[in-house]
Amino acid sequence: MKFLPIIGLEIHVRLKTQSKMFCACPNVGEDTPPNTAICPVCTGQPGALPALNEQAVHLGVRAGLALGCTIPTESHFDRKNYFYPDLPKGYQISQYDFPIAKNGKLGKIGITRAHLEEDAAKNIHDARSGSTLVDFNRSSMPLLEIVTEPDLRSPQEAKLFLQELQTILRTVGASDADMEKGYMRCDANISLLPVDEQNHQLQAEYNPKIEIKNLNSFKAVERALAYEIERQGEMYAREEIPPSATRGWDENKEVTFEQRLKETTADYRYFPEPDLQPLNLIEIEKEERTHLPELPKARRERLQMEYGFSESDAEFFVVNDGWTDFAEQVMAELGSWIEATDHKRQEGGEILAAQKKKWGKLAGGWLTSKFVGLLAQKNLTLKERKITAENFAEFLHLIEVGTIGSANAQKLLTLMVETGADPSHLLEEHNLGQNDDPKIIQETVKRLIEENPDQVKQIREGKLGVIKWFVGGVMKVTEGKANPQSAEEEVKKQLGV
Ligand code: ZN
Ligand code: MN
Repeated sequence: MKFLPIIGLEIHVRLKTQSKMFCACPNVGEDTPPNTAICPVCTGQPGALPALNEQAVHLGVRAGLALGCTIPTESHFDRKNYFYPDLPKGYQISQYDFPIAKNGKLGKIGITRAHLEEDAAKNIHDARSGSTLVDFNRSSMPLLEIVTEPDLRSPQEAKLFLQELQTILRTVGASDADMEKGYMRCDANISLLPVDEQNHQLQAEYNPKIEIKNLNSFKAVERALAYEIERQGEMYAREEIPPSATRGWDENKEVTFEQRLKETTADYRYFPEPDLQPLNLIEIEKEERTHLPELPKARRERLQMEYGFSESDAEFFVVNDGWTDFAEQVMAELGSWIEATDHKRQEGGEILAAQKKKWGKLAGGWLTSKFVGLLAQKNLTLKERKITAENFAEFLHLIEVGTIGSANAQKLLTLMVETGADPSHLLEEHNLGQNDDPKIIQETVKRLIEENPDQVKQIREGKLGVIKWFVGGVMKVTEGKANPQSAEEEVKKQLGV
């Protein structure tokens, strides 16, 4: 029997606000000591009243717009009732039938809805005392719950969806969305549908749905779903039907395990939150729509079109925080250098596509491989860099016009990363420039030919690859300062090949 996995996701993301959802406590995460960011509201003291954080509403609407959702004119909060030690009020303030966003799309995947709610506190099982402690710092932190349609068809697709969602949320500034820090947590629903060879559904009703809770890495999402596909497939093969249930994921054993049979909506006895006013979203939507930044998909395309960056370099800039801005600054600075030296332009001043590609490739390469590597080596983030966009552009220009060879360019970039000094200054100070003095190259080649008759013989016998061996020799003698192309020409000239 062939099965088609029917997968839907529910993702909780922590909104990047100053304060918590319904009180003035700082939204500081778990980095602070337990129970230091709490107050009567977020610990659920009797009589304490919630006051809505407007920034959370703005960020929620912004995320909704970025996911192509419709923003209803009105929305309100509801109480979701359940009892658990990390929920002191005995209910969570959430949104039930009037969420702040609905009917969106990310690629081919439908977004059912996105709603605001508060986080629960955190239970800490203390191994020393054997008791359970509760940290209320997390209680009432602002969350956006995003629910997808069951449109995903493989674990891989689910992972890619989450990665793109993370990039979008970071790009619009709604959430840091780090999965490992718990800023983005994922529950996945999966059922297997029997299909024929052409993926035609063989039964009218869907099979029971299994929910896997609290997946906290991309890898966990992918592996837990793959595990469920196998487990459920084997059950159907034995003519058993997997019960609709909530399951957990054991990271170490790489298996899912049953936690509880599924609750229904009725179990939560939702009713409108009487302590909060209904939300009017008309003005907020207008404001957020006007300020919505460029989204990742458009940004990838623009970086390739406008600057000639390769697809993978553009992807790197889009996914990594701050890199698009830096790359664009470098290209803007580089523009004036190109202006000064590289005159191949079409009528109307437009830079030729080929030129653009050449510069984009050069800049993209040095930024995403060498510069990234050097920052990592020095344990620096992009933000902590000493190097300016202006200096980086000048550095690229020195390479392109041949003032410096690529081996010494590496050294120069290292010095720039270390000191932040400008490249022409460092070039002079450390004597890294290319020395194209034809006399030195001539003499060096002459000497190498005299000293290496065997290699000369090989070239005369037609092994032209050995010419590169002489070029290498010239580079060594000149400490990387000769222009390899001039050296090669000189070798050919002197040997008459
Ligand atoms: Zn509080
Ligand atoms: Mn929720």
